[in-house]
Amino acid sequence: MFEGISGKRAIVTGGGSGIGREICLRFGAAGATVAVCDVAVDAADAVAAEIRKQEGNAHAYKVDVSDFDTVQAVCNQIADDLGGIDILVNNAGITRDNLLLRMSERDFDQVVAVNLKGAFNFTKACCRHMMKSRWGRIINIASVVGQMGNAGQANYASAKAGMIGLTKSAAKELASRNITVNAVAPGFIATPMTEKLDEATRQAYYKAIPLKRAGTPADVANLCLFLASDAASYITGQVIRIDGGMVM
Ligand code: NAP
Repeated sequence: MFEGISGKRAIVTGGGSGIGREICLRFGAAGATVAVCDVAVDAADAVAAEIRKQEGNAHAYKVDVSDFDTVQAVCNQIADDLGGIDILVNNAGITRDNLLLRMSERDFDQVVAVNLKGAFNFTKACCRHMMKSRWGRIINIASVVGQMGNAGQANYASAKAGMIGLTKSAAKELASRNITVNAVAPGFIATPMTEKLDEATRQAYYKAIPLKRAGTPADVANLCLFLASDAASYITGQVIRIDGGMVM
């Protein structure tokens, strides 16, 4: 029987848009109480309101994941508001694409700060709450690019590869407390992040994907729902690709 996540308390970063939004909605519909965290507070508010409209439980929090002190404070606030933290999805991410020769120091630092340090900040803040209750699920949204590399994305690929190292290290440290830590590595998913790409780039991706379509945020959210559930209790330290067969 598939054990759901009803009654669990979940944090989703970057929950206001794209993949994060869909994860929030799925988790809310599955009976979890969702803390929708985003730097864009209006977007987070809208997602939380949508969950409540469907009779679910959700709260919105404004947080820049790269700000260490704010993250620690917000996570303590969430633990107080929700009575604990069971599930963390580190989903917030940005791209600042450019070829190495043209990539600025700022664009490198920002992408690492949000994608990688943001995941560290939230993991550190949440794991103490999970350790107390001896149950936890941490899901890091990485990317196939963290495994393959990608021209024009040295910053993003480095950050996502770093997330994979963070995932495996945290999985080893936290396993004895019944906390699993896994990375999900999406390929090409139709979201506001990929809407920015030009048609030629989009077509090149479709050509490289055996299933010949972009993934949807729902495809990724379904995998996260499974990983967050008791049905996935023996999976930890893994990188699970969800990419229509693009990398195999
Ligand atoms: P998205 O639609 O741009 O959503 C990302 C969300 O994160 C946005 O709401 C964004 O707010 C928020 N965010 C950005 N910086 C933040 C910060 N410092 N603190 C808190 N929230 C912040 O992107 P997506 O496509 O859903 O991507 C979600 C995750 O999947 C990312 O980690 C991305 O790298 C990963 N991923 C995506 C794809 C894909 O094909 N789409 C593939 C592989 C991996 P603003 O809108 O205000 O910036």
